[in-house]
Amino acid sequence: MSAWPLPERARSATFGEDLNVLGGFAETYGFEPPVVRFGEDTWDFSAVPDRPAWLPAYSLVVRFDRNIAQPRWRLMVKELLCARLYPTHPAVVATIPNRRRRPAPLGEAYVRVLLYRRWLDWLDEHGIRSLGEVRQEHCDRYYNTRAREIAPNALSTMVILPLRELADYGPVLTDPYPDGFRPWGHRRACHITGVSTRRPNVTPVIPQQVLDPLLAGALFFVDIAGNDILTAREEHRRLSAPIARDGGNPASPAENLQRLAQTLDEYRREGRPLPLVRDLPPETVGDPLASVNLLLLGRQACLAKLSRLALSAEQRELLLDALDDLGTAPGGLRTPISEVIPFGGDGPPAPWRDPIGPWELRPLTARLAAACFCTIAALSGMRYSEIIEIRPGSIEPLDDGLGVIRWRLRSKLIKGQRHGGRPESWHVIAPVVDAITILERMHPNGPDDPLLTHDLCRTMPRPPDKPALRLHFGGLLRDLIAWQNECGARAGLPPIPEVDGCQWPIAPRQFRRTLAREIAFRPHGTIASKIQLKHVHAHVTEGYWGPAGESAQRFIDELDREQRSASEQRVRQRFEEWQQGLPIAGGAQHRLQQEFTVIARELDSFTGTLDEREQRLRKLLRKRAQTLHFGVLNDCHFTDPSQARCLKNAPPGTPQAPLIAACQPARCANASIHQDHLPAWRGVIAHAEELLSDPVLARKVPRQERERIAHQRDEHAAVISPLQTDA
Ligand code: SF4
Repeated sequence: MSAWPLPERARSATFGEDLNVLGGFAETYGFEPPVVRFGEDTWDFSAVPDRPAWLPAYSLVVRFDRNIAQPRWRLMVKELLCARLYPTHPAVVATIPNRRRRPAPLGEAYVRVLLYRRWLDWLDEHGIRSLGEVRQEHCDRYYNTRAREIAPNALSTMVILPLRELADYGPVLTDPYPDGFRPWGHRRACHITGVSTRRPNVTPVIPQQVLDPLLAGALFFVDIAGNDILTAREEHRRLSAPIARDGGNPASPAENLQRLAQTLDEYRREGRPLPLVRDLPPETVGDPLASVNLLLLGRQACLAKLSRLALSAEQRELLLDALDDLGTAPGGLRTPISEVIPFGGDGPPAPWRDPIGPWELRPLTARLAAACFCTIAALSGMRYSEIIEIRPGSIEPLDDGLGVIRWRLRSKLIKGQRHGGRPESWHVIAPVVDAITILERMHPNGPDDPLLTHDLCRTMPRPPDKPALRLHFGGLLRDLIAWQNECGARAGLPPIPEVDGCQWPIAPRQFRRTLAREIAFRPHGTIASKIQLKHVHAHVTEGYWGPAGESAQRFIDELDREQRSASEQRVRQRFEEWQQGLPIAGGAQHRLQQEFTVIARELDSFTGTLDEREQRLRKLLRKRAQTLHFGVLNDCHFTDPSQARCLKNAPPGTPQAPLIAACQPARCANASIHQDHLPAWRGVIAHAEELLSDPVLARKVPRQERERIAHQRDEHAAVISPLQTDA
């Protein structure tokens, strides 16, 4: 970057040096914001109330002097950000008709400064010192440079948007673009980048083989390991408390010796080895006591100080005797470890890990927090920003009078909402409540602080002047997976397999998409063996159909999208099965076969590239997917409502949609039955046979009923007979 001659301190013609850039918050949201002066080179928003909890603390401090070297451009960026943060300022209202109507979100300024800085640095490198010299060719060259560095779908927000904002807010800038210039004019960003705005959701769905064991591991922590970890934390807290006045008087060596002897006797009685230190300093290997955690022993003996270098001869002798008798082992805290049956074993239950050492509490607590987050995210459908807003006391039991207790979880909607978010509630199931209860037990701060912060790893409350730090759940979830693969078998947990040769790149936002996907594939998908999806579906959907509406609608929209995609995938699967010669049964069998024949013929005569052929096939199958509904015993092709058996006895005015709960797949012309439905049919037939062959039951069931069951069994066997031949 070239060095510019130092100018005098530039001043804005629009905004005064003492202007509070957060003035718009007072006018829009009605609270008095802290003062952040326009003229300061650091804007610190940390004191703004109701900040979103997901925002990292660093993103609330914008340092212009560190980011933008040239004072003239620094001023211009401040003017632009001020206009976005303070859209009700008279100068902004008067000159920028297409301005934001509400103050920009607080975290935006930090990100925008980095984006503007890249553009301004590029201009500087190319000898351009004023935005007035910028032409379209510069924008194109910058765009091409960035296109080689970032993904195509990021170009719109990281290149086109910031360059255009400098044009759109030009009237308030000291150094604007030339009059009437706007990068790429008014062309839509998708036309410039060639990336459609109607792209499918690119967040990957967590594969079933990863989700099932991962959720099993998370539930293990919530149900079993969590109690052990919290008990160990409590024990450590007691040991770390200041020693009472009567503890370990250095002037009374005899008393100290007696306390140490008592503690070592306790170790002997319990047969416990002395605790090992975490890291043995290399220069101390000659001293056998160097490997013993004397600090912990001293705390357990209520001695103010027990240091290897300050041991009396008697203390050393006592300790060496105990070391000879007991040896050493990792751990040190007395908290008993729960016993479980190891994975793949059929022996007696055993502790799921060694005794916990004091230094292990922090990583274990972080792992427990990750497990709680995983449980909440995977089973509630909440966004990351919504989970992070959960505070102590957010769970409210709902008793519907029938003895069924359900739970309402209160948090906030953040995405797309005004500053401070909007209160919202979700209906959740018991594992989510258990996870939140564990987090509440770990939470060291007051009821107004969010639960899932770095403070979970502290045992004492955070000082009020220190900001709450975020936990990075991406890294913590990867740590949870690594732990499960390495040590999970002892805890009775299956390993989490790799996908395509590497560990699955887990990320918090994948849980919500995966849940929507699972629900879309209901009833075949399973989230965890322990939890029925139907249960989750009912609660989550109910929770999202809350009174507030927006979140509900968004989640339902997501579900609709996933359901469409799931249907298309299922029809494609059926088509490929048919091409492989797998049989189809059920009333829709012939219709389906005819349609597949027509599609196959059309594909055969299609001349085009492989991609075009694929698109053509997708288009041909899409129509069929629109009428597909999933059932346990069959697929329902709801093309002809007049033939729907489930609607035969429906009262007039019933919507023309399949009633899957009243489905009669053996008799309906809309039902098709495939190989993957066979286990459910065989189960029904086996159950009927069991009823008929059991002499005790047979005596209790009336004869007519037995005949009806036998008839149904034969009918079911006949229905699936086309599938049995190839099965
Ligand atoms: S009876 Fe079953 S297959 Fe037939 S229309 Fe109703 S839901 Fe679909």
